[in-house]
Amino acid sequence: MKNVWVFTLVSPQSQNAAISPKPMHEIDILGVPVTCFTLYREAVAHVVDRVKTRDKSCCVAINPLKVWSAVKDPSFAEVLKAADVHICDGIGVALAVRLLRGRSIQRITGVQLFFHLVAAAEKEGLSIFLLGATAESNEDACHNLLKRHPRLKIAGRHDGYFDGDEAMMDAINAVEPDILFVAMGSPKQEYWMAKNCAGLRAPFVMGVGGTFDVVSGSAKWAPALFRKTGTEFVYRLCMQPRRLKIVPTLCRFTVAVIKAYIHLRLSDGESGNGEGAQPDASDSPGRMD
Ligand code: UDP
Repeated sequence: MKNVWVFTLVSPQSQNAAISPKPMHEIDILGVPVTCFTLYREAVAHVVDRVKTRDKSCCVAINPLKVWSAVKDPSFAEVLKAADVHICDGIGVALAVRLLRGRSIQRITGVQLFFHLVAAAEKEGLSIFLLGATAESNEDACHNLLKRHPRLKIAGRHDGYFDGDEAMMDAINAVEPDILFVAMGSPKQEYWMAKNCAGLRAPFVMGVGGTFDVVSGSAKWAPALFRKTGTEFVYRLCMQPRRLKIVPTLCRFTVAVIKAYIHLRLSDGESGNGEGAQPDASDSPGRMD
């Protein structure tokens, strides 16, 4: 394996998680599960608990583009469903949850959760591995993380342009990270995780898209105003006009959600239930262990 960087581990320190993990609950949006975390702290506590109990889980970020890809492509739908945690990354998904299921859930964006998990990893003495982005961006991201978190244990890193999954898995397993972040863009990272998660020893594996580019500074993170209003995608569209091609997909997702809402209201009317959108009885609880 070329160029796998392995860092010396800093002395471990264990502290208890700030809050105890709650059982996870998932609801379905157009056939794709979405995990209902109410706070970032809750999501972080869940991950730390999973890592400490060595209970393996794989996390994907759900946004309207991925939901629509899953609607159109059953194999991608299976890949998303195979994950254990489905954070509500996109404002469109949070709005769909509100409209179709009558629930307000916290958006847990991949970038923000990454930052929270890195801070928790430093505090809890957990090690991380950064897989993805270009060699330069990957290296700069590590460098910047260590500047901000000097006690962070980075077990290793590698860019996202490699051949041979087996060799890569061996390299990752050899340094036994607690958390593996995979930043190879969607859908590549989701397919890679679905295919390789079983062979990876890291107890928590998470897809983080273009996050390393934000950390390295090669891409700008959306300013606070966009983040607070959940409109980071508008910022990204302005900064990277090549992304304009996603607009028709966003429109198709919106139309599908509105159609599902109308269908729901009509069936409410037929059954004499005038209470509007309610949580679906078929909502599946996530893993409770
Ligand atoms: N990338 C990678 N390997 C590949 C293709 C892409 O590591 O084979 C990286 C790319 O360098 C970039 C990230 O994946 O850092 C994709 O970022 P983007 O913002 O496009 O991802 P999104 O968040 O939209 O899924």
